[in-house]
Amino acid sequence: MSTIQDTLSNEPIRERLGLRPIINVSGTMTALGASIIVPEAIKAMAEIAPQFVEMDDLQRKASAVIARLTGSEAGFVTASAASSIAMSIAGSMTGTRLLAIERLPDDTTGLKNEVIVQMGHVVNYGGVIDQSIRMCGARAVLAGTVSVTQPYHVDEAITEKTAAALYVVAHHTVQYGMLSLPEFIEICHAKNVPVIVDAASEYDLRGFLAAGADIAIYSGHKFLSGPTSGIVAGRKDLVRAGYLQNRGIGRGMKVGKESIAGVMAALEVWEKRDHAGIRAREQSALDLWLARLAGLKGLAVRIIPDPTSNPLDRLEIKVLPESGFTAAGLAQALAASSPPIIVRNHEVERGHFYLDPCNLHPGEEHTVADQIVRLIEAPSRPDNAMLTPTKSTAAALRWPD
Ligand SMILES: *Cc1c(COP(=O)(O)O)cnc(C)c1O
Repeated sequence: MSTIQDTLSNEPIRERLGLRPIINVSGTMTALGASIIVPEAIKAMAEIAPQFVEMDDLQRKASAVIARLTGSEAGFVTASAASSIAMSIAGSMTGTRLLAIERLPDDTTGLKNEVIVQMGHVVNYGGVIDQSIRMCGARAVLAGTVSVTQPYHVDEAITEKTAAALYVVAHHTVQYGMLSLPEFIEICHAKNVPVIVDAASEYDLRGFLAAGADIAIYSGHKFLSGPTSGIVAGRKDLVRAGYLQNRGIGRGMKVGKESIAGVMAALEVWEKRDHAGIRAREQSALDLWLARLAGLKGLAVRIIPDPTSNPLDRLEIKVLPESGFTAAGLAQALAASSPPIIVRNHEVERGHFYLDPCNLHPGEEHTVADQIVRLIEAPSRPDNAMLTPTKSTAAALRWPD
């Protein structure tokens, strides 16, 4: 499908910059560059890069595209889903009061400044979500416990200071015991509290708004395969109030013309995308992995669906002691391979990791299978094969060394 992708193949620039040519089987990870940007978005970014545009007009055009794709009244593009969350929350506090927008975050005089979020939704996606609330000058009011929220936890937490309620749809959240989105919306709307849904990593562009959410937020750079960006879609008054934060706390999160044009193109392509074809390609990688890896000593493999019902399956690899590896040890050995293979390892302390087929370049599925077979069938084990997972931040603290 990809003429521009072919001419700009994925090898040379990494070599030139001295970067490792990683194969991404971890998913749409922002820490790895998120996704393969679709050619149409790359083209739009290149076309607009040398041109001047009136940014409010460009965002007005983006609003129309977002509205068409999501079924919203309006929308705008931000630098990331994280900035979309902050700007939407700030908008729910200030409305269109321009001086209030300039006074955030430390002066919230006269503004509602509480945001309700279920405790099991306080996730970390590289940053902590309650910071997106606190950076607006609001306070996160945690409802329920890590394992259960009941309706009264949200209902009685609502006060005259409640600006909004935030609902997170993600594999990161506690996957049981939480209120469903319809339950959450019903409680909040009964008291006129707008509901903002963080759906950064979801395929479904319409369902959350159709369910009654006032704002739905997406990442442009995850399944949409656009440039790094965020999308805010929803009720026009809230969208407008959020957009006006570009004059306030949003200024430091400024999105460029190239990202707006790129994500508009990615949205338009999403409508025409061959979703069934993509699914079939992912399935053939999964089938290949299942065939090559089932029966390897010490590995138990199975295909499992996405936890939040995105139309995407992954291969779970349970790493048993007979393999001579721990899951963390095998993941590290793959990351140290040539080429490096980065697996989906957020549950590695539970003895398994996943292979995610959604960001493969053609043929990479074979390289991944070959390397796992090689490591398991090798007569010896690398150092650290029995690595225990660590949450060490030492490497982060050494950056840029
Ligand atoms: C990835 C993610 C984010 C952050 O998205 P960015 O666009 O990278 O800022 C926020 N929330 C959830 C649920 C995510 O998966």
